[in-house]
Amino acid sequence: MPLLDYTLPTDGLAGSYINGAWHRPADGRTLNIENPSRRSTICQVGRGTGIEIDLAVAAAKAAQPAWRALAASERGARLLELGRRLEANAEEIARLLAAETGNAIRTQSRGEALGAAGVLKYYGGVAVEQKGETLPLGPGLFSYTTREPHGVVGSIIPWNSPLQLGAVKISMALATGNCLVLKPAEDAPLAILKLAELAHGLFPPGVFNVVTGLGEEAGACLAAHAGVDKVSFTGSSEVGRLVGHATADRIAKLTLELGGKSPTIVFPDAVENGRLDATAQQVANAMRFARQGQSCTAGSRLFVHENIWDVLMPEVVRKAAALKVGDALDDEADVGAIINAERYEEVRRYVAEAEAQGARFLLGGTPAADPAGFHPLPTIVAGVDNGWRIVREEVFGPVMVAIPFKSEAEAIAMANDTHYGLAAFLFTHDASRIMRMTRALDAGWIQVNQGGGQIPGMSYGGTKQSGIGSEYSIEGALEAYTYRKNVTVNVEADQ
Ligand code: NAD
Repeated sequence: MPLLDYTLPTDGLAGSYINGAWHRPADGRTLNIENPSRRSTICQVGRGTGIEIDLAVAAAKAAQPAWRALAASERGARLLELGRRLEANAEEIARLLAAETGNAIRTQSRGEALGAAGVLKYYGGVAVEQKGETLPLGPGLFSYTTREPHGVVGSIIPWNSPLQLGAVKISMALATGNCLVLKPAEDAPLAILKLAELAHGLFPPGVFNVVTGLGEEAGACLAAHAGVDKVSFTGSSEVGRLVGHATADRIAKLTLELGGKSPTIVFPDAVENGRLDATAQQVANAMRFARQGQSCTAGSRLFVHENIWDVLMPEVVRKAAALKVGDALDDEADVGAIINAERYEEVRRYVAEAEAQGARFLLGGTPAADPAGFHPLPTIVAGVDNGWRIVREEVFGPVMVAIPFKSEAEAIAMANDTHYGLAAFLFTHDASRIMRMTRALDAGWIQVNQGGGQIPGMSYGGTKQSGIGSEYSIEGALEAYTYRKNVTVNVEADQ
C-alpha cells in the first residue's frame, strides 16, 4: 500500500494561510504530522505562534467591513462554491483525513469529506436568512432590529472530525458576515490546509485565515487576543474552561462545544417484532465503534432494561466484534487507529483500571502496549459501578459500559447522573414514553431509534458541562455569530 505523501502548498513548511497567502513560520519551527495507523511521519507543517495569530487577526479585521457589506446571497454563493470544490476533491481529502486522524477511509473519512461539503452548501443556501424584525409602534416611530456580525471570530477545533468541524466554523462565521481565524488541532491540520487551498481566490484576502500550531501557543494566543470579538471552541471540557477564562477578561462572545458521556437507553419493545438486529446495529453505531469511540456524541453508557439484557447484549457484542480493525487507509478496515500515543495510553489506562476493579468484559479488553499502530479493541464492559472512572469520564476510545435498569425512572436518573449533557440515544416505539423521556433527559441532541450523526439544519449543542450554544443550524449561527441591533426612527408626520 503506498504511503501517503502530502506536499503542502508552497513546497512544504507552510502551515498558516494568512491574508490570502501561504506563510512560513516566522521562527522556522515545525510540527510533525503523523499517521497513527502506521506510526509514521506524513509531513511537517509550520508551528505558528502569537506572531502568526497577530498577522491573521489583523488581516481578518481589515477584511471584515467589506465582507459584511456584501449581499448575504453573495457570501452564501462563495460557501456553495467551496462546498462544490470540496466535493470534487473528496477522495483526495478523504485520504488525507484517514492518514492524519486514523479514521477509516471507507466507514468514516469519505463520509466526513462529503458531510463537510454538505455543511458548506447548507449554510451557503441559508445565508440569506439573516433577517430582522419590525416593531408596530404606531405612526410616529419606525423601529426595526437587524442581525449584525460580531467582527473577527477565532475558532479552535479538535482532531477527531477536523474537516466537518472546520466546515461548520467557516460556514457559520462567514455566512453571517464575520471574518475568521481558524486554528486546527496540532495532530490533524492537513485536511483543513487542503480546504484553504481549495478556497484560495474564492474569498477576499483576510476573510478566511488558518494558523497551525500548538494549543498552548497559537490556540491560547487566539483565545486571549484583544482583536478577536468572538471565540468558537470545540474540544475537551478542560480546555474549554481555559478558553472561557481567556475570553471573560474582555467579555468576548463565546461558543463552546465540549465533551460528553452520552447514554443509550433500550426498552424491551425495541427488540420485539423483528427489531432486535436493527436495534443492536444502531446501538453499536451510536457508540461510534467505527470511529474508535473518538466522538463527542458516542453513546458510551448503554442502559438496557433487565428483561432484555440476555437478548440484546449478545447481539450488540456480535455487531461490535464483526468490525474489522486495521489501517485507516485500507478499504477493508471498519475501525482505524487512536490518534496518538498519549491518547492510546489513556484508553489503555481506563480499561486496565476497570479490569483491576473487577469489571466483566463482554468484548475486548486492555489493548496491547506499544503496538505497531494505535489500533484499539472494540470493548464492552459490564459489572461496573457508577462511581468508577470508566463510567463517569469520557474515555474517547471504543469502550462502552453496559448497565441494566428496572424502570423508566431509574433509567432517567442514571442517564442524568453526569456533569455532561451532550447527546442521548433512546430506543423504544412507545410514543408516550418517547415524549416523557426526551423531555426528562439532560441532553442537547437526542436520537430516537437511530444512532446516526448530525445533519445540517439540526440544532446541535450541549447543556451542563458539554457546552454553550448550538451549531449546524441557521438559528444557532444567528444566535451565536451575530448580535441584535435595534434602530428606532422618529418619523416626521406626512407633509
Ligand atoms: P482538546 O481540548 O485537547 O483540543 C482541542 C483544540 O484546542 C486543539 O486545537 C488544541 O490545539 C486546542 N488547545 C489545547 N490547549 C489549548 C489552550 N490552552 N488554549 C487554546 N486552545 C487550546 O481536545 P481534543 O483532544 O483535540 O478533542 C477531543 C475532545 O473534543 C473531546 O472531549 C470531545 O468530546 C470534544 N469534541 C466535542 C465536540 C462537540 O461538538 N461537542 C466535537 C468534537 C470533539
